[in-house]
Amino acid sequence: SWRAASTTFKAADLQVELNKHPKEKPAVKDLVFGKTFTDHMLTIEWTNEKGWGKPQIKPFQNLSLHPASSALHYSVELFEGMKAYRGEDNQIRLFRPMLNMERMHRTALRACLPSYDKAELLECLRRLLDIDRDWVPKSTSASLYIRPTFIGTEPSLGVTKSNHALLYIIVGPVGPYFPTGGFTPVSLLADPKYVRAWTGGVGNYKLGGNYGPTIYVQNEATKEGCQQVLWLYGDDHQVTEAGTMNFFMYWINEQGEKELVTAPLSGLILPGVTRQSLLDLARKWGEFKVSERTFTMAEVLWGLKENRIKELFGAGTACVVCPVNRIVYNGESYNIPTMENGPDMAKRFLKELSDIQYGRTPSDWTYLV
Ligand code: PMP
Repeated sequence: SWRAASTTFKAADLQVELNKHPKEKPAVKDLVFGKTFTDHMLTIEWTNEKGWGKPQIKPFQNLSLHPASSALHYSVELFEGMKAYRGEDNQIRLFRPMLNMERMHRTALRACLPSYDKAELLECLRRLLDIDRDWVPKSTSASLYIRPTFIGTEPSLGVTKSNHALLYIIVGPVGPYFPTGGFTPVSLLADPKYVRAWTGGVGNYKLGGNYGPTIYVQNEATKEGCQQVLWLYGDDHQVTEAGTMNFFMYWINEQGEKELVTAPLSGLILPGVTRQSLLDLARKWGEFKVSERTFTMAEVLWGLKENRIKELFGAGTACVVCPVNRIVYNGESYNIPTMENGPDMAKRFLKELSDIQYGRTPSDWTYLV
């Protein structure tokens, strides 16, 4: 009998197989980012003929893939990165998770992977987190990292739209980004010969293909004695983002105004959830100018020379905010006075966001598991 292919999966159809051999949970101090996973995972299969299958929560296990799978050859792969936080009230919270769901869905369409109902995926995730809730660290500096993933599993070498796909979510506990408690600043290599993304490209999507090629550049930064890469773009050396963080400058501009500046969403940068949240907070405070605009290394160097730069910092899920103390550019090392200036702005953002994430401040950005 003929049946229409299902255009979304539904959380109500979830099939759950519990792990009969739960693992020992490591101590927070022993956690290395991305190496520990929980007892369960979520998988949802799609085929062009049948549409979406039933979502499944099952014991964490290896995948079985055809060696011609499009994810492995043509990088038909995308992911998200988000966290679940356990508050002192023992409640588990997500932070603005619909923004991740929306970014993932946009990226899926760009990868020619199938559409689905974003709210249903969030509910499937909530169910997975509920089952693995004991894995969310009992610590208000650690969290549970969440890695939604979507891959083309087309068993054919043709460079065409996948007729087979797999959406899955794996999760694992992670320790604090700043283990000492305080801020540890990072140094950045800004070398215009490397470009992360370009106009008309896919830098604004969270495609795996955007990340693999950055490892080489990250290694070059390490060789230069820097911790991360500052990604520049264009002949005018526009400042775009840093490592896997959006990038912010807090300074006194040419007009003598206090200004918080970050690159605009013009396709060159990933639209970060943290970036959006800092902009939303700063605009709510209304205490200084907030600009999403193109800015260049020339402007940064002028600001440094004129003593106008208060703070430079990265912003992302991993660290919330990460102060920058040095930039290596055109063979010169520039000291950035972020730490000498508090960093008041970075600290204020960190406190505001982590108070919401760990439930100390009630907020409609919170989503309870
Ligand atoms: N830029 C890039 C390139 C990233 O990979 C990330 C991490 N997702 C970010 C910025 C920060 O985004 P978010 O605040 O959503 O973590």
